[in-house]
Amino acid sequence: IKLTEFVTANELATMMNVPVIQVISTCMSIGIMVSINQRLDAETIDLVADEFGFKTEYTSAEVSEAVAEEEDSEEDLVERAPIVTVMGHVDHGKTSLLDHIRNANVIAGEAGGITQHIGAYNVRLKNGRHITFLDTPGHEAFTAMRARGAQVTDIAIIIIAADDDIMPQTKEAISHAVAANVPIVFAINKIDKPGANPDKIKEGLAQMNFLVEEWGGKYQSQDISAKKGDGVFELLEKVLLEADMLELKANPNRNAAGTVIESSLDKGRGYVATVLVSNGTLRQGDIILAGTNYGRVKALFNERGQRIKEVGPSQAATVLGLNGAPQAGDQLHSMNTEQEAREIATKREQLAREQGLRTTRRRGLDDIAHEIAVGGVQELNLLVKGDVDGSVEALSDSFIKLSTEKIVVNVIHKGVGQISENDVTLAAASKAVIIGFQVRPSANARKLADQEGVEIRQYSIIYDAIEEIKGTMEGMLKPII
Ligand code: GDP
Repeated sequence: IKLTEFVTANELATMMNVPVIQVISTCMSIGIMVSINQRLDAETIDLVADEFGFKTEYTSAEVSEAVAEEEDSEEDLVERAPIVTVMGHVDHGKTSLLDHIRNANVIAGEAGGITQHIGAYNVRLKNGRHITFLDTPGHEAFTAMRARGAQVTDIAIIIIAADDDIMPQTKEAISHAVAANVPIVFAINKIDKPGANPDKIKEGLAQMNFLVEEWGGKYQSQDISAKKGDGVFELLEKVLLEADMLELKANPNRNAAGTVIESSLDKGRGYVATVLVSNGTLRQGDIILAGTNYGRVKALFNERGQRIKEVGPSQAATVLGLNGAPQAGDQLHSMNTEQEAREIATKREQLAREQGLRTTRRRGLDDIAHEIAVGGVQELNLLVKGDVDGSVEALSDSFIKLSTEKIVVNVIHKGVGQISENDVTLAAASKAVIIGFQVRPSANARKLADQEGVEIRQYSIIYDAIEEIKGTMEGMLKPII
């Protein structure tokens, strides 16, 4: 096997196509205790590989594929604006809310309106504070990015129309925010409408265990009319309150780090990427690395279409100068030398190719059972879909009750209906297994699950499903039915 030093026990097992538990027990037999994600040195790797009849060949490990980031010291940190995503059911008013915020009197008078859609924009409110809105379409984008390891959102606004019900997509959006551990502020919209009943929505939320503050709970909520603007400023003040509790900080005086939120190939301008800076300052002329692409920043533009020289923490800009289109969710870094940027980009490309050949490793119940057996996991995340609400609830409750002191079972999302692509992305982002009860995945969901290595288990008898999860938790799995 060809490898670099310091691969993890798990990676080594994958390369040799043996269960990781065997790698771990081999290490134990030579007196080395390792965990699944522990990196091994060359000597250990050689011994283990030899045990399984493999010869090792080391490739250069000089260039790591990760960019080393120094820690910021406390005195260099300054407050940064919260990054907010608005999610909700279609037609509940997401676009109207964002439009209102972009255009209306909640914003302090600024030269030049927001004219360009670049995927994110920063507004200065009339109280002088800033908020950055991620303007990506829906929670699919939010979760797709998270599946790639990028957590760009600090706070989620969940918008719900008061003349409607809490819809499946609303529940999904809530699950996505909770799974990402992002605080939620509820916006109960369309209160200007004659049929609006905000209390009914709050009641529905309470039934889902999301009790709003005015009813004694911990979730902030604000009645609004996105159309007229009523309550919108108050909503944003509540978002800022939430932000204050998070104590969001960054160091503007360092090399930039950020996340790609969109990218494209523009006929005239070449590759264009929108980057949301999370730390440091990105400047024109910087050498940058994003995913497998690199280049020198030729120009930066803000959401007003203005050319800017630099962009700081929690601010977004379109960047010209990359040699390709990175993927949404890719991390961007300013680098000290072009050589370093090129080497890492090349290395990543190579790794991506190798991993592609190795095929993505599924993280199914079997793997989880092994990991539990060796004490590697403390959490089992499940996503439950079923044909009727009753069985979904019954199954979810039974699963959660299987939790022990050592292993917690989380149902990160549950719902009625076919297993969708959204379910798969959410499961991928949360390393969850999908449990389908009397339902099947759509063809696209099946394809995506294969690509992402998400396991879908289907059952038609509740007892079987519970027994199997129980078996998994005991670290020994019965054969698949
Ligand atoms: P989205 O699909 O969530 O982006 O929803 P939109 O913002 O496109 O809104 C859907 C419809 O609801 C549009 O016709 C809006 O004009 C209307 N709408 C949105 N907010 C309000 C509101 O506060 N009051 C009223 N009366 N209509 C609203």
